[in-house]
Amino acid sequence: MTDFTMEKGADGVAIITWDVPGKSMNVMSMEAWPVLEGLVDDALADDAVKGIVITSGKEGSFAGGMDLNVIAKMKEMAGDNPAQGLMDGLMNMHSILRKIERGGMDDKNKGGKPIAAALPGTALGIGLEIPLACHRIFAADNPKAKIGLPEIMVGIFPGAGGTTRLVRKLGAMGASPLLLEGKLNDPKKAKTAGVVDEVVPADELIAKAKEWILSEPTFVKPWDEKGYKMPGGAPYHPAGFMTFVGASAMVNGKTQGAFPAAKALLSAVYEGALVPFDTALKIEARWFTNVLMNPSSSAMIRSLFINKEALEKGANRPDVPDHKVKKVGVMGAGMMGAGIALVSAMAGMEVVLIDQKQEAADKGKSYTADYMDKGIKRGKATEEKKEKTLGLITATTDYAALEGCDLVIEAVFEDPGVKAEVTKKVLEAVGDDCIFATNTSTLPITELAKASDKPEQFIGIHFFSPVEKMMLVEIIKGKETGPRAVAKALDYVRQIRKTPIAVNDARFFYCNRCIIPYINEGIRMVSEGVAPALIDNAARQLGFPVGPLQLVDETSIDLGAKIARATRAAMGDDYPDEAVDEVIFWMEGEGRLGRKANAGFFDYDEKGKRQGYWAGLAEKYPQAEDQPDLIEVQHRLMFAQVLEAVRALEEGVLEDIREGDVGAILAWGFAPWSGGPFSWLDIIGTPYAAERCDQLTEAHGARFTCPDLLREMADKSQSFYGRFGSQAEAA
Ligand code: NAD
Repeated sequence: MTDFTMEKGADGVAIITWDVPGKSMNVMSMEAWPVLEGLVDDALADDAVKGIVITSGKEGSFAGGMDLNVIAKMKEMAGDNPAQGLMDGLMNMHSILRKIERGGMDDKNKGGKPIAAALPGTALGIGLEIPLACHRIFAADNPKAKIGLPEIMVGIFPGAGGTTRLVRKLGAMGASPLLLEGKLNDPKKAKTAGVVDEVVPADELIAKAKEWILSEPTFVKPWDEKGYKMPGGAPYHPAGFMTFVGASAMVNGKTQGAFPAAKALLSAVYEGALVPFDTALKIEARWFTNVLMNPSSSAMIRSLFINKEALEKGANRPDVPDHKVKKVGVMGAGMMGAGIALVSAMAGMEVVLIDQKQEAADKGKSYTADYMDKGIKRGKATEEKKEKTLGLITATTDYAALEGCDLVIEAVFEDPGVKAEVTKKVLEAVGDDCIFATNTSTLPITELAKASDKPEQFIGIHFFSPVEKMMLVEIIKGKETGPRAVAKALDYVRQIRKTPIAVNDARFFYCNRCIIPYINEGIRMVSEGVAPALIDNAARQLGFPVGPLQLVDETSIDLGAKIARATRAAMGDDYPDEAVDEVIFWMEGEGRLGRKANAGFFDYDEKGKRQGYWAGLAEKYPQAEDQPDLIEVQHRLMFAQVLEAVRALEEGVLEDIREGDVGAILAWGFAPWSGGPFSWLDIIGTPYAAERCDQLTEAHGARFTCPDLLREMADKSQSFYGRFGSQAEAA
């Protein structure tokens, strides 16, 4: 069986069907390219064939993208010259797709055969780049289908002609959101955007494509016609000029230049727009090779595509039977509880939402109603869906309603006494098998588990706020947590379609353990007289969504002060953050509590819009005349986090570096271009990292002391993925 097969009809239409054996969705492999080419050659040479339809044998989808092994294989194609291998491999794909696009026409656009793409549904990446090379794209009216080029999301860009063709088809302005944001559309929206040409009823898909072929259409691509002009104007046209100035500003504003793929994509678009089509493809291939040779792209693909998916599929799930949740209890209908109830009901679970007072429980439930209303307004939900979702949530004060719950998640006040009382009362109301989870962000799970007589069924399920937006869920295993509880938590996270990491219990678990030193390093620099704008911009230029000071404003100063007091009480004389606390406590005393108070490190206008940094900060902590070098600031911010990640690995809090990397990007936006803390250390190399630790320790203090593990790895020139990657894969 091959991935592509062809059937020539008596009506003169050859149907090429893509149907990769054993896969639920087609992916393009290295081996399938020549098969496709052979079939196209055969059909074009056969006088009985009038035209070709390329479709898929999979129900509801055309293709999900390229098998990522293709990139690895191309790199090996030219011996020890991976860039040449990539360039050759890409130019080979271009020649096959160009053959489809020319359909056998001569230089004068005479002769040839029309080729249509018929998409039963989802068409992503190469799954859209092949259709873009065809003469007309038919899509089945399948509202669940997603059509687009999401490559930029994993640190690459469409490199099989998709970039060049989409810009030529839609103009730079029209193609921008699709290429730069990886925006996916359902078929109808894809038609409105101009990506597909026709949306037809699913059961008429092939018939409509055939009808078009047999109508003897003209099918020369606009860019193969003399006098072609790019929609909206090429770069030197006044209108085109504005588009490119705008796009360049937007990309740099959004990415701060930290993401190589976005820059390379823009270059490919801009330079490609100045030259004839075939040269543009070559330029696209050069920039794509450039991106694929950048360690950032392989790190991003590894973390955001391969490993993220592996974790979602249960890479670290204990081998126990299915533990899907049917009925979940949510204790506390505050900010977190309301969000947890929402995402659970959206996933089809029955939810019991409990608070101390009925009004509080109702208010928590109304969060779902408001969320659904917003969805209806944006055309993303329906009244029926709203009613169905709300119908799944019972808001009550009555613990008896918990009967039959197989999972209860507690999100009451962050107070061990309150949590213990709630735990006991819940356990009286539920069956013996029920798993009890706490959403605490700071309290040790093992301690909280003492309130339960079944600590093996007690676990941490730590959500991030806002629950419905944040894609990561951190699962925390207490000392006595058993495999059934872990499986339940992982299955639940899978049901709500988020990404889990599972870590062991320790102060602040994994994520907050790394975020806090990042924030603290930023605040410490303020106390040293470093310009606040330098601190935040240094982080943004590393690819963090917000700098540490802005992050404190968003999460609130009083939360920081509360955590600082609790940590200080727990650590006693070992407490390392005096200088940071001085700033935090002073801000708290001044009522500069952050965005929620309309006053924090930043000033805000009456509508809550962020203005500049608060002048009072510079009065209290005058800015030093000599400001540090940007790289020094960036390294302080980076090492503060990555050394915590290494310590978490060293101490066994993290068991799998994939979780450390994926978790860091999804939880707090750790420089996604780097692939995560461990990938970043691998990019800079452990020997250099250890050397920098020594320099930073000397200049700024013991918190930068090189962890023993990193030192040992540096001495042996080991990388994290070299040493721990295969273990992770075997797990
Ligand atoms: P919140 O104050 O908004 O909500 C807590 C809710 O619990 C309130 O509605 C309160 O009435 C209810 N409650 C208190 N005692 C109760 C009891 N005995 N029985 C039933 N309900 C009771 O707090 P929140 O921000 O939603 O945080 C809840 C938990 O989630 C805390 O443990 C917190 O550490 C954790 N958490 C918070 C965040 C965050 O960003 N806010 C993030 C992760 C985890």
